[in-house]
Amino acid sequence: MSVMQTIEQLIAEDRGNRGIAALVQPGHLQGAAQALTGAAGVVIVSGFYIPRAGAGETDGPPGAKAIGDALRLLGIEVAYLTDAPNLPLFQALEAEPLYTDWEALQAEWRPTHLLAIERVGRARDGRYYNMRGEDISAHTGPLDAPFLEAPSRGMTTIGIGDGGNEIGMGRVLALVEAHVPQGALIACTVPTDHLIVCGVSNWGAYGLVGALSSLTERELLPSAQEARDAVERIVAAGAVDGQTHRCEATVDQLPLSDSLDILERIRALVAG
Ligand code: MG
Ligand code: MG
Repeated sequence: MSVMQTIEQLIAEDRGNRGIAALVQPGHLQGAAQALTGAAGVVIVSGFYIPRAGAGETDGPPGAKAIGDALRLLGIEVAYLTDAPNLPLFQALEAEPLYTDWEALQAEWRPTHLLAIERVGRARDGRYYNMRGEDISAHTGPLDAPFLEAPSRGMTTIGIGDGGNEIGMGRVLALVEAHVPQGALIACTVPTDHLIVCGVSNWGAYGLVGALSSLTERELLPSAQEARDAVERIVAAGAVDGQTHRCEATVDQLPLSDSLDILERIRALVAG
């Protein structure tokens, strides 16, 4: 098995028992990494707000920053796009330039690629749902709209998700409806050219950066300390675990050590 295939399997480990195995698209990790090596400017979209907790979650923004840092090392321009409720998390990560409005972003530059990680996209009824099937539309900006425009404007799109309701999952809509609890309600209808399905979305980001490292023969992964700091900094800014809703440094109900273990296994695979 190739390094890419091994990483693809590793990040899809379903420790949360979400039944995502059926959604995995073999080869898409490599396809996404290859597409990014040809990018000039990438917009990274993330941030999943938990209305009940009044805060954004710990899965997503740390992965977004890891990808952005890696792309910059490759000389690729990066901008971040989120909505107002998630702004404090991106500020805590010093993720810049940072926009909350797609029109404002486009007034300043033209991306070649759009990447969404752990960012909800519209369901069949046009509303936005969390994994529990709660309608969170009132707290969610339409950051999936750029992905719908992308094909007609020649932009390549990448989605990273772990539950079926995230931007990109429209690519496997029927599978989400068949395999994910409440899939018929929550499934995101917005597809991406490349779709990385993973057990935890931050793991998908580490996997993508590992794939980029392997392709370019550059060390692009965050250190364990940087990965830990990213989660701890957003928790200090109010982020909560998306499952437990507690303001602590866990991700999808898993201790941070699980994420760091995945990161180090990816690093070892890339180093060969
Ligand atoms: Mg998710
Ligand atoms: Mg998650």
